[in-house]
Formats: sequence, structure tokens, C-alpha cells
Amino acid sequence: MSSINWNDYIRDVRDFPKPGIIFKDITPLLAAPHAFRAAIDQLSERCSVLGPIDAIGAAEARGFLFAAPLAYTLGVGLVPIRKPGKLPYATLSMEYQLEYGSDALEVHSDALKPGARLLLVDDVLATGGTIKACADLARMAQADVVGFAFLMELTFLGGRSRLDDGARVISLIEC
Ligand code: 5GP
Repeated sequence: MSSINWNDYIRDVRDFPKPGIIFKDITPLLAAPHAFRAAIDQLSERCSVLGPIDAIGAAEARGFLFAAPLAYTLGVGLVPIRKPGKLPYATLSMEYQLEYGSDALEVHSDALKPGARLLLVDDVLATGGTIKACADLARMAQADVVGFAFLMELTFLGGRSRLDDGARVISLIEC
């Protein structure tokens, strides 16, 4: 394992996107090629415990930044999960609750195959609402979510507890 100090590449931004929130800004990590490469290498190595994977699913937008190189490295396909109205073909849709109000995510109706072993990826696991909606979409399509992978997990928000017991949760950085 590399001796990278991840804290050097994650910037705390106070009061973003609203007062009282400390946002974990991952753009310094994306801009540092050795750190970004180490993150992808370490995540893909840790994903080997999941056994064979057929596809990676990820929600826009920051999820794509990690899902695409992981899919390339692991040699599997990438299924984009997007905000309503962005995908051109027929979609499945899943609503989920936000702190105030609700949002929805969509996936192409033929993108997740029944029984496919799916890895869901995002940059950050916070309350778990986003990735849970992705998992619910996968369930709707009868795909089998075998694991979740995140660059960072905000453990104090307890998002992990909302995810399926049967699937592994892999996070490179815990804070
Ligand atoms: P959750 O749905 O788990 O509450 O929030 C996770 C989603 O919101 C992820 O898609 C992630 O991109 C975004 N998110 C929430 N908090 C942060 C944060 O502090 N930093 C970053 N980079 N993304 C966050």
C-alpha cells in the first residue's frame, strides 16, 4: 500500500452547499495524478474480495469520476445512473428522500441485467440516500448488488447502515 496521506488531497469547505455543512472537496485529489492513480489502484485491489463482477453502476456526477477508471481497471462495463430526463432511452426511475423534499435517479431499462453481479460506486458515502436509490434501482432490475465502493465514507452520518447487509461496503478513507 502506498503511504499517501489522503488528508493532503481532501479539502474541507465550510458552509457548502449551505450553512453548517463541511463539504469534503475531492478536486485536489483528482488534480494530483499520483494520488488519483493510487486511489483507483487501491479501490480496485480491495474490490477483488467481491469475486467476479459483471458491471459497475454509478450516479452522476462525481460517482462517474471513480466508476469509469474502476470499470476500465476491472475490465467490466459501466452503467450510468442519472438525474431525470438525462438518459435518452427508456428508463427505470427511483425516487428518494432528501433532507428537504425528494429527488429521483434513472437508469436505462435494459442496462442492468437480471442476476448480474453489480458493484455500485460513488465518491462519498454520506447519509446513504443516493447509493440506496441506486441499489433500489438495481433491485428493480433484478440485478445482484454484491458491493459498494467509495473513495470516502463520512462514518458519523451512518450511511452504511442503510445498505444491504449482504453486500460489502468498501471505503478507502473514513472520517
Ligand atoms: P448521501 O446521499 O449519501 O447523503 O450523499 C452522497 C452523495 O452526495 C454523493 O453522490 C456525493 O457526491 C455527494 N456528497 C455528499 N456530501 C459530500 C461531500 O462532503 N463531499 C463530496 N465530494 N460529495 C458529497
